[in-house]
Amino acid sequence: MNQDTIAAVATPPGNGGISVIRISGSDAVKIADRVFAYGQGQKLSEAGSHVFHYGHAVFGDKIIDECMAVVMRAPRSYTREDCVEIHCHGGALVTKTVLEALFAAGAVPAEPGEFTKRAFFNGRIDLTEAEAVMDVIASENRYALDCSMHQLNGQLRKEISRLRQRILEETARIEAAIDDPEHYALEDYGRQLEQTLQPVLERIDTLQASFDDGRLLKEGIRTVIIGKPNAGKSSILNYLSGRDRAIVTEIPGTTRDTLEETIVLDGLQLIVTDTAGIHDTKDKVESIGIDKAKEAVAGADLVLFVLDSFAGYEDSDKEILSMIREKKTIVLLNKTDLEQNIQKEALEKALPFPVIDFSAAEFKGKEALGALLKEMLFSGKLETDHQIYITSLRQKNLLAQAKESLENVMESIRLKLPEDFYFIDLYAAYTKLGEISGDTVDEDIINEIFSKFCMGK
Ligand code: GDP
Repeated sequence: MNQDTIAAVATPPGNGGISVIRISGSDAVKIADRVFAYGQGQKLSEAGSHVFHYGHAVFGDKIIDECMAVVMRAPRSYTREDCVEIHCHGGALVTKTVLEALFAAGAVPAEPGEFTKRAFFNGRIDLTEAEAVMDVIASENRYALDCSMHQLNGQLRKEISRLRQRILEETARIEAAIDDPEHYALEDYGRQLEQTLQPVLERIDTLQASFDDGRLLKEGIRTVIIGKPNAGKSSILNYLSGRDRAIVTEIPGTTRDTLEETIVLDGLQLIVTDTAGIHDTKDKVESIGIDKAKEAVAGADLVLFVLDSFAGYEDSDKEILSMIREKKTIVLLNKTDLEQNIQKEALEKALPFPVIDFSAAEFKGKEALGALLKEMLFSGKLETDHQIYITSLRQKNLLAQAKESLENVMESIRLKLPEDFYFIDLYAAYTKLGEISGDTVDEDIINEIFSKFCMGK
């Protein structure tokens, strides 16, 4: 890690109320003193930590802006280094000028993610927490945010460290027995090791399994709305999103292409694709839409199958059903405000899916849909408060590798191989888990992770 004192704008580019410029490194306060003046010639280097001061940013003898500044002395700062934040007016030019004054005073431009990278290298956070910082910033729904905050608070770090500790104790035991066979016996050790590793493997399985739920929470549930023309797909989408998005008409087949929209339903984020009505058609444009719908169904996490309860259950509905049989599906029995020619109970008996009475016209069914979604996709256990969700593919792959090594140990035990065989695989699992937290990881991987960060973070 380089030792320069770095500076960057931490707020988004463009004009706004205020901009925050961050400085971190051993010369942060000295450099800030050259740019920020306050009181009767007072200096931030003499000021207390974590106290805001009102003053001016200056470039040479020219005043650039009226600002506030705060010093956060090491180790009580984001990076664990001396940090200064200058809050200036949020104009793009004024911000740039203050930053240039800091560069002229000795700071160097920070790379994207460099502040967080320093927090990692200085031991304030581990890699799972660094990844969580990025997830918190990117969160677009309440659950994703809860889940990232949970990770940022070190829940995954603690869990990984517990698993590593258990493995380490075993490697230490084998090592001691090999080095000093007189005092440390390994009699019956295989059986004991199996008992220790079984719960570790189960925990890894649970963490791995949480990835799918974590992905749904983080990236949103890819949802397809499907139904014959005029069943009410566009109206439902408009109702769910609270906006007028798709064109609603009374002529069947007006939703020609697929439309995509993000909606948040009871804290869950759905990325919804509205499809063209599926039915046999000679119309070229519409058949392209149908192909796209089939593609969308294939890639979806969830299908919302809209039935028109007034029109009744028709052949085109059967055709759609054949397309979606294998998918997680919820049937929205729409237009229940009109005379009903399909009954919910009968439908539930006939179809392998849950059914919700719906009316896009009377805004009915949204709450029931939200509740059912949680039950279906998260087995009713959507508890971001105490559950750890793995959200990165990197973490998932490393868990898989650690698991493979532990399974090799189990196999060696079964084959009654010598204990040094256990040692090699135990150590490999220990190292792989260490890559999740960043305890054992190369610099290239670390750089790759931080390169995805935004500027000033
Ligand atoms: P799509 O072709 O499946 O997208 O269907 P639209 O959303 O365009 O709706 C077709 C027609 O059904 C429009 O005239 C809507 O106003 C009407 N419609 C949609 N949902 C309902 C509903 O719940 N009740 C009633 N009465 N009419 C509805």
